[in-house]
Amino acid sequence: MIIKKSLKESLLRINYMDTKNTKKQNVYISEEEQTLSWVEIQESFKKTFGNEIYTSWLQKLSLIKEYNDYLILGVPTRFFRDWIVSRYLDKILEQVKKYKLSLNRIEFKIIEDNKNNSELSKIDEISKVTEIKDSILNYNRLNSNLNFQNFIQGKSNDIALSYSKKVCEHLSRYNPLYICGGVGLGKTHLLNAIGLELQSENNVMFISAERFMYHFIKSIKKNDMVNFKDFFRKSSVFIIDDIQFIRGKESLQEEFFHTFNSLMDKGSQIIISADRTPMKLDRVQERIKSRLSGGLIVDIDTPDFDLKVKIINKKIEQIQNQFKENINLSPEVINFIANETKTNIRELIGVLNRVIAFSRVHNRELNVSDCKNILKDVFNQIRVITVDKIQNIVSNYFNISLNEMLSQRRSRPLARPRQIAMYLAKKMTSRSLPEIGRRFANRDHTTVIHAVKTVTRLSEQDEEMKKNINQIKSLLIDQ
Ligand code: ADP
Ligand code: MG
Repeated sequence: MIIKKSLKESLLRINYMDTKNTKKQNVYISEEEQTLSWVEIQESFKKTFGNEIYTSWLQKLSLIKEYNDYLILGVPTRFFRDWIVSRYLDKILEQVKKYKLSLNRIEFKIIEDNKNNSELSKIDEISKVTEIKDSILNYNRLNSNLNFQNFIQGKSNDIALSYSKKVCEHLSRYNPLYICGGVGLGKTHLLNAIGLELQSENNVMFISAERFMYHFIKSIKKNDMVNFKDFFRKSSVFIIDDIQFIRGKESLQEEFFHTFNSLMDKGSQIIISADRTPMKLDRVQERIKSRLSGGLIVDIDTPDFDLKVKIINKKIEQIQNQFKENINLSPEVINFIANETKTNIRELIGVLNRVIAFSRVHNRELNVSDCKNILKDVFNQIRVITVDKIQNIVSNYFNISLNEMLSQRRSRPLARPRQIAMYLAKKMTSRSLPEIGRRFANRDHTTVIHAVKTVTRLSEQDEEMKKNINQIKSLLIDQ
């Protein structure tokens, strides 16, 4: 496992003595980049998180690789990783930043020689869970602003919107209703709107898949599965957001499958959202995929210009009503914002808010060149995109490892993601073609040119490719 020499980086292999267990772990760090002392950081974890959390969880993290802006940490199991990510990631990052300010992200690798992945060992891990009162996980409550009235219809979402409304009129006719689309396109908004519409007459449960897992683990720990099952199975409308979160989590899938079946048996309406279609949910059991596909699948696409303009106008109207202030944005400025924000609606709203804040501060009507300046700022802030980030996000997206992405293997499932990553590196960073080539295991710049050409052509001809690229761009911008 771990980073192999084939990465063509000179890696220094050192033996790291685990302070407590005096157990040897291998740590691979590139010579030029190693600055952190993991032992020291572990000590600081102990102080910050307390002994109990430290010994149950953080002590088992190992440092695999250190980059300028992110770390790869080793974890023993998938479950372990999910747990750390959902509960401690923010704090861990905060802590390591104290040692190296440029870090902005942490990635995890499952250390394969620890194959003790049985359910029993998972339960064993679960039993060590300590409760945290203020969990960093969002508590999903229905948000009264995310209603149908505030959801603007456009070409990219009209089918999803109309079936979301139909579900409210005819419960159980489309069951489950499955809404899919990339980040920031309005899935959570629609789910919320359905929940609001139905909540007065039904027992509505609205939860993210991540939160579902949190409850699940807590119940196992407390030996309280009966209550867990009751809690979820008594709902007559069950809305679950971001179901892709269950990928790779076997025991969670098992529980979800049973919950799903018993809800269907008693005729409850189920509404699900995901960032991809059911069949594309890799590492999800076939029987679940087929259940998810058993009702109606609708998708939301990236918004076109018209929809973006409508959303901007609606937002302005909302702000004016809410804050009783006059917002004057000229049609040119509105068109400019709609044109410049290419990825998703969340980004569009972020940019709009920024422009409005600017005009408020300067107390004058803005022109397009003001907006250019403001947007330059916004994009610089949110788009510090590096080749490393692109490689990581693309390999994650296609579910291949970084090693596979960089390898010399030419099979399509590896070659295509590699080409897409090269294409994005050219389009989204200021790196030159030879520099990009070097970052892809010392490939020649002509290989990069070929990749850029191929992906450009495919993304014009092939809807699927276009969609993939847009989604990856959103992920890069969103992180
Ligand atoms: P997703 O769950 O697909 O990532 P969200 O539902 O969180 O996206 O949407 C992101 C933001 O964009 C939210 O503020 C949402 O209210 C807004 N939004 C998305 N689609 C629309 C729409 N059609 N009309 C108005 N606002 C929208
Ligand atoms: Mg969402």
